[in-house]
Amino acid sequence: MSAIRNKIEKNLLHIREEIAAACKRSRRSVGEVQIVAVTKSADLEGIRAAVDLGLTELAENRVQQLLERSAELSEALAKKRNGGPRGGDVHWHMIGHLQRNKVKAVLDTGVTMIHSVDSLRLAEEINARAERMEKTIDVLLQVNCSQELQKFGVAVGAASYLGEMITTLKNVRLAGLMTIGPLVENLSDARPAFSRLRELFDEMRHEGIGGPAFKHLSMGMSQDFPVAIEEGATLLRIGRGLFE
Ligand SMILES: *Cc1c(COP(=O)(O)O)cnc(C)c1O
Repeated sequence: MSAIRNKIEKNLLHIREEIAAACKRSRRSVGEVQIVAVTKSADLEGIRAAVDLGLTELAENRVQQLLERSAELSEALAKKRNGGPRGGDVHWHMIGHLQRNKVKAVLDTGVTMIHSVDSLRLAEEINARAERMEKTIDVLLQVNCSQELQKFGVAVGAASYLGEMITTLKNVRLAGLMTIGPLVENLSDARPAFSRLRELFDEMRHEGIGGPAFKHLSMGMSQDFPVAIEEGATLLRIGRGLFE
């Protein structure tokens, strides 16, 4: 077994223990929480190890990286002759800022979910491209829930309306909300942003926005995922904690 695989296996064990503990504290089932492995700090060997260890959800925050990594991985998995995961078992997520002129390239990779939709114009471009491909793409609305000045994400007060507009588009499916927690020294200071996203999520669900497809809260990264789980996260975007 390679040293890299060994390290990732240990990290994953530790992360799973923390997930289980946070679920227990908040009386949630571990089945409600999924790890999305953020591969930006990993190399191909690391990514393959993660896939071999059973992680099927992978993510990049940069378009160019997403194009390269998804192509490299599917080539590597296609070459593999005996057993193990295949390319079709792996799903890529786009989690970083996306410009409209990059939407086509991103969809061409076969990405399954875009976490970073924060404007109607971007959603419309995704919809138009998806329509031409005769596909439906899951998207999350990125919300800026922390006081700090974040460059991306729609304001909490504008999210519900934008969400409703997005649900009128035929080839995108609004699957939930995403936020990036604030940079904090004390972990508990991250909690208000996550609980704000959770409240917004509950409100939007109550209004019926997105229907049954509206079910995901993408929040929590290596530093703060236990708190995010306590506040209702369903998708954890974990990079360094897994690969470093
Ligand atoms: C890099 C990144 C992550 C993962 O962060 P880690 O601290 O490495 O776990 C999650 N979400 C987004 C949007 C990122 O860019």
